[in-house]
Amino acid sequence: MAGYAGSSPNGAGAMLRHIRDGRARTHAELVALTGLSRSTVAQRVDSLLTRRLVVPASPGASRGGRPPKTFAFNRDAGVVLAADLGATHSRVAVTDLAGDVLEEAREDIPIASGPEVVLDWLEHELDGLLEGSGRSREDVQGVGVGVPGPVEFKSGTPVAPPIMPGWDGYGVAAHLHERYGATVLVDNDVNIMALGEYWSRWRDTPHLLFVKVGTGIGCGIITDGRIHRGAQGAAGDIGHIHVPDHDEVICRCGNLGCLEAVAGGGAMAARLTELGVPADNSRDVVRHVRDGRPEAMRLVRQAGRELGGVLATAVNFFNPGVIVIGGDIAHADEHLLAGVREVVYRRSTALATRSIRIARSTLDDRAGVIGAAVMVIEAVLAPDAVDLAIASATS
Ligand SMILES: [Zn+2]
Repeated sequence: MAGYAGSSPNGAGAMLRHIRDGRARTHAELVALTGLSRSTVAQRVDSLLTRRLVVPASPGASRGGRPPKTFAFNRDAGVVLAADLGATHSRVAVTDLAGDVLEEAREDIPIASGPEVVLDWLEHELDGLLEGSGRSREDVQGVGVGVPGPVEFKSGTPVAPPIMPGWDGYGVAAHLHERYGATVLVDNDVNIMALGEYWSRWRDTPHLLFVKVGTGIGCGIITDGRIHRGAQGAAGDIGHIHVPDHDEVICRCGNLGCLEAVAGGGAMAARLTELGVPADNSRDVVRHVRDGRPEAMRLVRQAGRELGGVLATAVNFFNPGVIVIGGDIAHADEHLLAGVREVVYRRSTALATRSIRIARSTLDDRAGVIGAAVMVIEAVLAPDAVDLAIASATS
């Protein structure tokens, strides 16, 4: 899109960015920010007003047909559909263009039912939520979906996802684009959770790691406020980093001594069962911790230390401002975080840890659906995308 004539660092899309970020509310402020002439700024703002992406903000400002004195981003210029599909349950939502949830639902549906069944169900759910929010498909600016497996982001296609039979290579984005005719973005669930956490609580901290500790362990990376996916979309796959002194443990990936095989919820459940405390999954582990079982508390604390060892390396390498810990095991009171903090603060360099925060997720399972919406909003309201939409509407 670099060669596209209507897309410029000072186009209408860039004006919208200044207004959305709260840097400008008037023509004069946009002139000062951009160095453009007042008439050029007025023309760009008019094109945003025409598309209702901005609206007059001061009462009575439009009297006499004169241009409004101040204006604001119109979060109601459209809606976004968002879904966070999990292994057994899913969250779906309709949000406004600021990422605030208008309608939402949480339903049980096994992802193993396959893409046709799950996506038909999803369409039905989303249409119901749209109706509940008083909106229609015409208002949909985009659809964001998170899935519990690796995704080739460019095509919106899951790639060899271990717990999603039937989804390998299925064009999820293409399927939904055909139904809604809008931008559709599909990503790994940990990535969208990271973005949801960043957007909701940590927007003043543009370098963030989000670690999900459930049955497995995964990490979403936010750098400069954006998801870092890496060359193949595999960035943040910390569950399969080798940890020292555990080569007796075979991981489901076939390697020995992976972090997930030592410190994941599935591994802890198996270990607890061996110790005579029956546990089937990560939620059972948490229940035992909350019931005060010493074996469970010790295991979770030790898992926190193992995770902390890997994160200490990540801290030295990436220098994040905050590490947010989520997933089922994060509910095991403070034991997991205490183990993580113990090792990260001891092992990382003084400079990297000087102001780092290590916090538990407060959004819990809403992080994914919020992040899915934000991913879409940031794409459809990106300056280039806005300039392109305005050009194609006026040509
Ligand atoms: Zn592994």
